[in-house]
Amino acid sequence: MTKQTIETTCCVVGGGPAGVMLGYLLARAGVEVTVLEKHKDFFRDFRGDTVHPSTLELFYELGILDDFLKVPHQELTGTGGVFGDFAFRAADFSSLPTHCKFVALMPQWDLLDFLSGKAKAFPSFTLRMQNEAVGLIEEGGAVRGVVSKTPDGDVEIRADLVVGCDGRHSLTRHAARFEVLESGVPIDVLWFRIGRQGNDPENLFGNINYGSAIILIPRGDYFQAAMVIRKGSFEQIQQNGIEAFREDIRRIAPFLGHRVDELQDWDQIKLLSVQINRLRQWYRAGLLCIGDAAHAMSPVGGVGINLAIQDAVATANLLAEPLREGLLSEELLARIQDRREFPTRVTQFLQVQAHKGLQTIFRNPGPAVAPWQMRAVLSIPGIQKVTARVIGVGVLPEHIKGAQTEKKCPVPLLKRIAIGAGLVAAGVVIGAKIIKAQRRRQYAWGESRAGF
Ligand SMILES: Cc1cc2nc3c(=O)[nH]c(=O)nc-3n(C[C@H](O)[C@H](O)[C@H](O)COP(=O)(O)OP(=O)(O)OC[C@H]3O[C@@H](n4cnc5c(N)ncnc54)[C@H](O)[C@@H]3O)c2cc1C
Repeated sequence: MTKQTIETTCCVVGGGPAGVMLGYLLARAGVEVTVLEKHKDFFRDFRGDTVHPSTLELFYELGILDDFLKVPHQELTGTGGVFGDFAFRAADFSSLPTHCKFVALMPQWDLLDFLSGKAKAFPSFTLRMQNEAVGLIEEGGAVRGVVSKTPDGDVEIRADLVVGCDGRHSLTRHAARFEVLESGVPIDVLWFRIGRQGNDPENLFGNINYGSAIILIPRGDYFQAAMVIRKGSFEQIQQNGIEAFREDIRRIAPFLGHRVDELQDWDQIKLLSVQINRLRQWYRAGLLCIGDAAHAMSPVGGVGINLAIQDAVATANLLAEPLREGLLSEELLARIQDRREFPTRVTQFLQVQAHKGLQTIFRNPGPAVAPWQMRAVLSIPGIQKVTARVIGVGVLPEHIKGAQTEKKCPVPLLKRIAIGAGLVAAGVVIGAKIIKAQRRRQYAWGESRAGF
């Protein structure tokens, strides 16, 4: 059967935050780009909703911030929670060095509709919905395009570069036989909605108690709730029955009261499997992976979308010109990994540490008591601003090439060096502690064996 063949300069697989942003930026720079999205629309409920200050800063640099802020959204000026009976404020975005001193909460389908709408203004942009990449076209050891399954049959899309932005279950990274380095993850997330009332918290709110945690994301008249559970324990939770599940929620977040009765059926509750991993190498001739396809992120900190968008900006900054001029090389693809791997590794390291904290919560099924270390850290003056910086801006934020504000980096060079040195020092201290603990464990094991 003859397949239809389409030629383009860059074929982006996946219309998530990384793919749509990359498509927009390349088209804006005059590169012929085709974005493939397997679904027929962007409407899916299992995605994050957070648009961070550093992403909003990019929209400012692109001149689309005012339009973006016209799309219905909520502005999160901080995050906080209750640990047992200890109420705390975790992050305060109000003094970030960005134009928007808040995280915008917007359903992801609205963000993607907005960005793809902006991209469509450029004639070199094509978005092909219901196009599922099912294989790579490889010739002479290089990737030359993808085969896409569509309602009208298979289509061959030939391109100078394929960029895999197809998320955690990426076909492109699998087909390219890229090696995936997994970080063990002890948690999964249950995702459901629950009604919201006038006097409920305005900001994102975590409730930690009775061996579990529920994060409540305000979305107008309801909360998008994310309940953190031990990996693989959903079956047991279901076996205990929906009433026991409702009771658990009521105990963890008592202020929800009778609203938990809205949960009548397991169909209302989705299991989202959490992963943290990254590719050893993100590229090969003719192919690059970015976003979750290169590094699947945990929902902790709600930073995955931001990181995916930062990857897209770095990719467009480095590749738009070579793509336009036909001067693409593998060395250029390597530079994208060089640039983006450090922020990815730092962010994943912090997420893994947060998972360890969650494991200690699971170990105590009774009323939670905030550890003194947590109380002490949260009482350090200005600590909420530091966490806001880590969450809201992240490590090594990107800027749009050629934007007026390009040089006005939110973090001055000296400060960046200081932050980098601080992180390295922290890494050395933590590493030394881990090695010491392991040695102690080995020693104790040796002693007990000797005793036995
Ligand atoms: C439970 C949970 C909650 C989260 N909450 C947040 C949050 O609040 N904030 C945050 O910043 N991050 C959050 N994250 C992380 C965040 O969702 C990801 O890091 C982010 O979406 C990555 O963007 P992406 O564009 O790389 O991939 P994705 O968002 O996964 O997009 C990939 C796209 O590719 C499409 N696709 C897949 N395969 C193909 C194919 N073969 N052909 C064509 N199209 C294909 C998919 O349909 C999808 O549209 C959460 C993650 C989880 C698991």
